Amino acid sequence: MLTEKPAPSDASGALPQQRQVQCFFQGGFVPLREAKIGVMTHAFMYGTACFEGVRAYWNADQGQLFLLKGLEHYRRLRNSARVLFMDLPRPPEELVDLTVELLRRNDLREDTYIRPSVYKSSEAIGVRLHDLAHDFMIVCLPFGDYIDTTAGISTMTTSWRRNADTAIPARSKITGGYVNSAFAKTDANLNGHDEAIVLTADGHASEGSAENLFMVRDGALVTPPATDDILEGITRAAIMQLARRELGLETVVRSIDRSELYVAEEVFLCGTGAQVSPVTKIDHRPVGDGRIGPVAGRIKDVYFDAVRGRLPAYADWLTPVY
Ligand code: PMP
Repeated sequence: MLTEKPAPSDASGALPQQRQVQCFFQGGFVPLREAKIGVMTHAFMYGTACFEGVRAYWNADQGQLFLLKGLEHYRRLRNSARVLFMDLPRPPEELVDLTVELLRRNDLREDTYIRPSVYKSSEAIGVRLHDLAHDFMIVCLPFGDYIDTTAGISTMTTSWRRNADTAIPARSKITGGYVNSAFAKTDANLNGHDEAIVLTADGHASEGSAENLFMVRDGALVTPPATDDILEGITRAAIMQLARRELGLETVVRSIDRSELYVAEEVFLCGTGAQVSPVTKIDHRPVGDGRIGPVAGRIKDVYFDAVRGRLPAYADWLTPVY
């Protein structure tokens, strides 16, 4: 039981002042304030870690917290770790159970963000991936919206290009690779926009700083392929399923030119953090008529109902915590 209830998160990403929160660290449950790594830790010095961002949604009517797509996240974490010569300490199924246990121990009864990570734990100088120890941890914190999902967001194409698969594979959620996302996000924010659209090295629309991208063009729903340096998003896959089932729309997976976004009827970003976030402006141009379009609007509504456990058809996305 938390003795101090954390303030509702403003999604600033800052840790709430909650001294009793437990995390999973070095093989056991420990108070978050005691979970520390040394400054020589390889992952800190070289960005040699990988991570997941998972959400759990509180349903007040049912008095239930739902972990969203836990297994998919741990399977992706296993793949990210594999790319970096690491592995999970336990199979994905067991890590879902461990996460549920952590949420229970913290008695979390509000929307929550969960951050598991596999990281190079050796305290050593020497940039490499081999011959290093690794460890695993999970932290969780109350979390609201990451970016706006209601009004429509303003975006700009950043001049920072997405990490190429030949440099830091975007398919693997590598901590060091997120410096690229940080460049993009700061570029957009300091220029007065909510989010960045990031292009591949050859100039195709790849994704947002931490979101996948969809557009509606001539009535077709389109998203860039896995080979356009995207993270293979779990929300992206969920949205393709929703579009098919709810709207009868098959998603066309193909490369997207920058200028197609200027003439698309609709554009939206999606991700575990971002959820479904309609884009109403790109590079100072209104998207479509400048308002949230019918496809993004409908997908967003169904998505929020599904993740909060209001739609039995999508119950298999969720693991009840209590
Ligand atoms: N792209 C990037 C770069 C991301 O960081 C994220 C967030 N994890 C996404 C896309 C969306 O992925 P998911 O839907 O699996 O959260």
